[in-house]
Amino acid sequence: MIIVLLGPPGAGKGTQAEPVAQRLGIPKVATGDVLRAAVREGTPMGKAAQGYMDRGELVPDAVILGIMKETFTRPEMARGVILDGVVRTVPQAEGLERVLRELGRQVDAVLLFEVPDDELVRRLSGRTICDRCQTPYTGREPGTSCPKCGGTLVRRKDDDPDAVRRRLRVYRDQTAPVIDWYRDNGTPLVAVDAVGSPADVTERVVRALPK
Ligand code: AMP
Repeated sequence: MIIVLLGPPGAGKGTQAEPVAQRLGIPKVATGDVLRAAVREGTPMGKAAQGYMDRGELVPDAVILGIMKETFTRPEMARGVILDGVVRTVPQAEGLERVLRELGRQVDAVLLFEVPDDELVRRLSGRTICDRCQTPYTGREPGTSCPKCGGTLVRRKDDDPDAVRRRLRVYRDQTAPVIDWYRDNGTPLVAVDAVGSPADVTERVVRALPK
């Protein structure tokens, strides 16, 4: 089962991708995680992506489609995958469809995470992320340890107020049209109320998945 998680920054896609993937017994892939790792390692992709990411802009579609092509060559993707933050523009939706069609596969469902704007800003301004396993947290201070892996919690550069405002604008202008694209394409698309405790939202997400 190939599931696309769609929704604005701060909607909880990164928080939910892992528990949902575990429940389904399939891996998750988050392009944001792949790109941050490339930046840390100083690879050519990381060097090309860093400026866009720090400013809260989208990296070019070709970079994302390159990551998708590589992802679907991996044998562990055979049973399915949760794609977190992967489809952020209409050309990415079209490109992903082409990559999957060549493999005789398709996106089985799109889950749209819904959270009011003021709650998004509140979550992002209080967010930290583990520098090792990339788990995001709200309400934990930078410099403290990740309860999951012992890594150090840090603030993301693109969670500063200017970058957050830009990312919300980018979502409205470039990512929101992807919702209609999937609707017109006939892909099952389900809205999930993503306000509440992470455990409650996980239950809603699992219930929203096609059987
Ligand atoms: P995220 O961790 O999903 O919030 O992504 C962090 C940043 O990585 C984004 O603000 C973009 O700069 C970049 N990024 C991640 N995924 C994508 C994507 N599918 N398309 C373009 N840029 C992306």
